[in-house]
Amino acid sequence: MLNSPRILLVDDTPENIDILRATLSRIPDLQLNVATSGERALDLAQRNAPDLILLDVMMPGMDGFEVCQQLRAKSEHMNTPIIFVTARTDDISKGFAVGANDYITKPINADEVFARVSHQLERLALTRQLRELNQSLESKVRERTAELAVSNRQLREEVKERRYMQDRLQYLATHDFITHLYNRNALDDYVTETISLVQLKHTQAVFLQIDLDRFRLVNESCGCFAGDELLRQFADLVSGQMEKDDFFSRLGGDKFALVCRSKNKESGLQLARSIQQQLSEFDFMWDNRHFNLAAAIALVSIDENIVSFDQLMMMADEVIYQLKKERRHLLSHDELNTAKSVDKTSVNWALRLMDGLKNNHFRAHFQKIVPLSGEKKDVKIEMLVRLQDVYTQRLVYPDEFIPAAERFNLISQIDRWIFDHATTFLVRNPEIVSSLDSIAFNLSAISLREPDMSSYICEKIKASGVPPNKFCFEITETEAIVNMDAARLFFTELINFGCKFSLDDFGSGFSSFNYLRELPFDVVKIDGVFVRDMDKNPSHFAMVKSIVEVAHQLEKEIVAEFVETETIADSLRTLGVGWAQGYLYHRPEELSLAALS
Ligand code: C2E
Ligand code: CA
Ligand code: CA
Repeated sequence: MLNSPRILLVDDTPENIDILRATLSRIPDLQLNVATSGERALDLAQRNAPDLILLDVMMPGMDGFEVCQQLRAKSEHMNTPIIFVTARTDDISKGFAVGANDYITKPINADEVFARVSHQLERLALTRQLRELNQSLESKVRERTAELAVSNRQLREEVKERRYMQDRLQYLATHDFITHLYNRNALDDYVTETISLVQLKHTQAVFLQIDLDRFRLVNESCGCFAGDELLRQFADLVSGQMEKDDFFSRLGGDKFALVCRSKNKESGLQLARSIQQQLSEFDFMWDNRHFNLAAAIALVSIDENIVSFDQLMMMADEVIYQLKKERRHLLSHDELNTAKSVDKTSVNWALRLMDGLKNNHFRAHFQKIVPLSGEKKDVKIEMLVRLQDVYTQRLVYPDEFIPAAERFNLISQIDRWIFDHATTFLVRNPEIVSSLDSIAFNLSAISLREPDMSSYICEKIKASGVPPNKFCFEITETEAIVNMDAARLFFTELINFGCKFSLDDFGSGFSSFNYLRELPFDVVKIDGVFVRDMDKNPSHFAMVKSIVEVAHQLEKEIVAEFVETETIADSLRTLGVGWAQGYLYHRPEELSLAALS
C-alpha cells in the first residue's frame, strides 16, 4: 500500500465522519483531511493534493457529482481515486459516469470501507511505481539512444577509416611508389585477364616493354633523387599519350610496360614511335646538367599463342636483348623470329633450360683473378656458367638465359650444377687446391632464399675434403634481395662454416654501401663498367677511388673486374687495389687441369 496516504473525507453529516474516521484509522500513518461541504472539498483538494477522496453524494449546495466533475476537470485530479459514499443504488451508475472509481453504500460497513480504500490505495501505489519505472526506463532508453548515436558515429568513422586503410593497402599492393604507376603485380593480373579476353573473344592486344636508356647514368652521376625524378617525368610523358584502354605500369628499375587492348601491331608500333619521338625531344635537367633520353621498346602481340604472363615477359626480354645487342630501339617479336629463323628454339627458354639441366648441356668456365702486387702468388678463380646450344653448337652466355632461369625458378638448379661440377673437379685434382687462393661462385639472390641451399653447400664441401675457406660466393646487390633475413641466415651459416662472400658489381646498385654494412662480405668487387674506362672517364675514376677508400676503411679485399689494359692495371695498383680480373690477364675458358696449370 501507499506510504502515509493523504485522504480527503467529504461528508456533511458528523456521524458519518466519525464512523469513517474510525474505520480509516486502521491505515498506518494516515493523513486525513475532512471537508463538510462541496466547496470546502474543492478548496482542500486544491491545497493538499489528496491521494484518495471519499465523497458523499448528498450534500446541501454543491452535491458529490458536481464536486467530482469539477475535480476531474483539473489535470492534477484527473486520476485521483474517488470513492462515492451513497445510500442510493441509483447514484452508482451516475457516479461512475462523472468519473468515480468506486462506491461505498450506506449504512457504512467498516470492513467494506477498509477493503475498498485499501484496494484503491494499492492500485494507486502500483500505478505510481509503474509510472516511475516507465520514466526511468524512458530516461535509460534516451541515454542508451544517445550512447548508441555516439558509438554509431564512432563505428561509422572506424568503418570509414578501415575502408580507407583497405583501399590504401590495395593501392600500395598494386602501385609503384615512385611513379605511382601500376606495379608488376598489377600488370601480371591485367595481362592474365587480357590473355583470357583474347582467347575467349578471338581479339588481339599489344604489349610494349620500354627500357629507359640513361636511367643508370643519371642515377650514378646525379644520385638516386635525380633517378627517381627521371622515372616520374618519364611516367608523365608516356601517360600523356595513353588512351582510355591502355594500361601503363613500372616493372622495376628502368623497365616499364604498356598493355593496349584496343590496339593492333600497327597502332602499337605507332605509339612506340611517338613515345620515342617525344623522348628525343625531351631534355632531362638536373643540377644544370642535361641528359638526352632514349628507350628500347619491344612489342609483343598478345594473340591466341600467348598463354601466360611469364611467357609474354620472356618474349619481351628476348626482343630487348636483341635490341641491345644490335643497338636498335624498336622491334616487334614476330620480326625477331624471322630475323633469327635458325634459332626458333629460343622461343621456349624454360624448356631449353630444363633440357640443359637434364642432359648436361651446361658448361663450367672460369676466369682467373690475379694479385696486383708482387707478394702474392696464388690466384683466385671465378666460375662462369654457359649453355651449349645443341642445335647451333653455339655457347650461350649467362646474360642471355639467366633472366629466364630466374623467372622460371631454375636458377638455383643451375647454381647447384656449376658448384657441384667445380667441387668434383677439385676433388679429382687435389694438387690444384693448394695453389688456389679461392674459387668463387656466382649465386643468384633466388638461390639465397632456398631454405636448404646453405646446408646443401656445407654438406658438399664437407664431403669434398676441400677447406671451406677456399670457397667464396659472389652476390650481386639486386632488387631481388628483398628478404634480408633470409640472406643474413644464409651468410651466417656459411661464414660460420668458414666460407667467404664477395659483393659483386659494387657501385652499380642503388645501395651497395648499405649492403656492405648490412651483410658481412669479405671481398668487394668493383663493377667493371667503372673500371673499363677509368683512365678516360673522370667520374668513373672518382667512383673507383671512393670505393677503394671505403673498402680499405672496412678492411675488405678488393677485386677490380674488366681490367683490359696495363694503364688501368697500373692505376688500380696505385690506388691500392689488391686483385684484378679481366681480358688483360685471362679470358674465361672451360675449367680444366691444363687451363689452370
Ligand atoms: P659477373 O659476375 O660480373 O661476371 C663478369 C662478366 O664479365 C663475365 O661475363 C665475364 O666473362 C666478363 N668479363 C671478364 N673479364 C672481362 C673484361 O676484361 N672485359 C669485359 N667487357 N668483360 C669481362 P659472363 O660470363 O657473360 O657472365 C655474366 C654474368 O652472368 C656474370 O656477371 C654473373 O652475374 C652471371 N653469372 C655467370 N655465371 C653464373 C652462375 O653460375 N650463376 C649465377 N647465378 N650467375 C652467373
Ligand atoms: Ca661475379
Ligand atoms: Ca661483376
